[in-house]
Amino acid sequence: MLAVTILGNNSAVPVYDRHPTSQIITVGNQLLLIDCGEGTQIQMMRYQIRRRKISHIFISHLHGDHYFGLIGLINSFALLGRLQPLHIYADKKLEHIIKIQIDAGDNRIPFDLYFNTIEEGVLVDEADFTVTAFRTEHRIPCFGFCVEEKKPARRINGEALLQYKIPTSYIEKFRKGDDVLLDDGRLIQNELITYANTPSKRYAYCADTRYTESFVKYIKGVDLMYHETTYLDNLSAQAYDRFHSTTKQAAQLAKVVEAKRLLIGHFSSKYEKLNDFEREAKEVFEQTALAIEGTTFLA
Ligand SMILES: [Zn+2]
Ligand SMILES: [Zn+2]
Repeated sequence: MLAVTILGNNSAVPVYDRHPTSQIITVGNQLLLIDCGEGTQIQMMRYQIRRRKISHIFISHLHGDHYFGLIGLINSFALLGRLQPLHIYADKKLEHIIKIQIDAGDNRIPFDLYFNTIEEGVLVDEADFTVTAFRTEHRIPCFGFCVEEKKPARRINGEALLQYKIPTSYIEKFRKGDDVLLDDGRLIQNELITYANTPSKRYAYCADTRYTESFVKYIKGVDLMYHETTYLDNLSAQAYDRFHSTTKQAAQLAKVVEAKRLLIGHFSSKYEKLNDFEREAKEVFEQTALAIEGTTFLA
């Protein structure tokens, strides 16, 4: 399964019970955190996120609305006695920023904390998923992320396993799609035991950015694409000046990407209501949804 749960969908300052950017990605049995704005921990509690399961944290850039919650989260992990390693991917300045805060309080971190500098390309390649980073066009260095789940080529048919009396030690070989020679001398054709798996899903998080098609090659045809829409269409000049995007620009990019669905967020604090964001984006790209906090979207 690949899914995203929205914890924060606002830009700049928290207002109208909307919070700065933060998203939880569920992939396999791991949780990834993308951005960690102020209030992320409270949102995790509100929406019952099992934060112990977070293995990797990705910080798109060092504007405060994307990482001011991070030191609090690390501190809580320490107080709660976390032992599992935590991998953080960010601009290289972040390690220094976090370490100053840890050292100033003479805090002890009981788990291994790894800082990795983001560069364009494959950042993480695990058994269950990969994460690829791509540059966006923002006022300071900023990266988006594409998360792709990895699935075995084939799914096991439990009934066929019993019918052909296949020992469980052979299951992994069948998952890979091979015909398998058993110790008893039988050669079992793969199609007797397995089904084709469903295709792996991809989720793209397009961080703060002006409209640009520079990263389309990394996310072409994604199942679910998040793009910021800080402003409505009438403020496109302001969006350009401030290195942000509008509803119609996000929707236009979703079209170019040929995304199956679009999520929009990072709403400016000047807007109390969000209906116009949805309406404008849908005029260009029908399969659009607002990234409402607390909602989980399947890729
Ligand atoms: Zn931002
Ligand atoms: Zn920013």
